[in-house]
Amino acid sequence: MSWLWEQFQVLGPGWADLVEIAIVGFLVYRILLLLQRTRAMQMILGAGLLVGVYLLARILEFSLIRTLLETLFQYGAIAALVVFQPELRAALARLGQSRFFRVFAKIETREVIDELVEAAEQLSRTRTGAIIALENEVGLDEYARTGNRVGAPVSSQLLTTIFTPMSPMHDGAVIVAGDEIKAAGAILPLTQTPLADRSLGTRHRAAIGLSEETDALVIVVSEETARISVARGGAMELGIDGDRLRNILEGNVPTKKSAFSLGASGGS
Ligand code: ATP
Ligand code: MG
Repeated sequence: MSWLWEQFQVLGPGWADLVEIAIVGFLVYRILLLLQRTRAMQMILGAGLLVGVYLLARILEFSLIRTLLETLFQYGAIAALVVFQPELRAALARLGQSRFFRVFAKIETREVIDELVEAAEQLSRTRTGAIIALENEVGLDEYARTGNRVGAPVSSQLLTTIFTPMSPMHDGAVIVAGDEIKAAGAILPLTQTPLADRSLGTRHRAAIGLSEETDALVIVVSEETARISVARGGAMELGIDGDRLRNILEGNVPTKKSAFSLGASGGS
């Protein structure tokens, strides 16, 4: 025991070490949180199993299995980069977006919120399909470029006009940054997660997809069901009314994650 203590003193852990351990611990925790709901988690478990088999093969000197697995691991690393490209991108984009930073996030002003709620209610009344992405910390220029530049103040009239089925820009998403409609007809990334609710098509998939890759809040109005829904952080709250939408936009309430079930693993 005293030997261990001596070793410990030789190491001479100082404040810096404690801080470092805390930081690394926090990062590992965040990474696990990021992985928790994704395909990556299942595949990491699978990879863990393979590593177990590999170690066993080494101990038992099964050279064929060993060689096969070694080869697999070599190419597997590259394959994993390709397979997890969307997750990696999302993880990098989310880096530094802890709750602490979110306090400083752009908060829509009251007028903008009024216009957005009015537009959503109007679109829902007329059963007009719509998808509106609200930029937060992570810039949405990359997606805005896939559509047409608008550059007009947010107004419910313009939003409802854009999504009118006859409008040339009704297809695709509107991107709002601050008090400006940046673009319309933008293509958003679709989520890869299997959705439990069969009535959710590509519009809803695009909303969830963008909310996975960025910290944007995405409002969807369904043309099939006239429901208003909101996606944020990879979760979607379905069928909300104007008041609830206003509350969410004002940042008073977190979106209910439980309202949206994630395919097989998430349950219902
Ligand atoms: P709804 O409930 O309104 O029918 P849905 O989730 O069932 O929506 P679809 O019926 O497939 O989805 O909706 C298709 C519309 O969604 C398209 O016309 C287009 O405007 C929009 N959309 C589809 N994919 C994308 C995308 N990747 N980015 C932005 N908008 C998209
Ligand atoms: Mg549909």
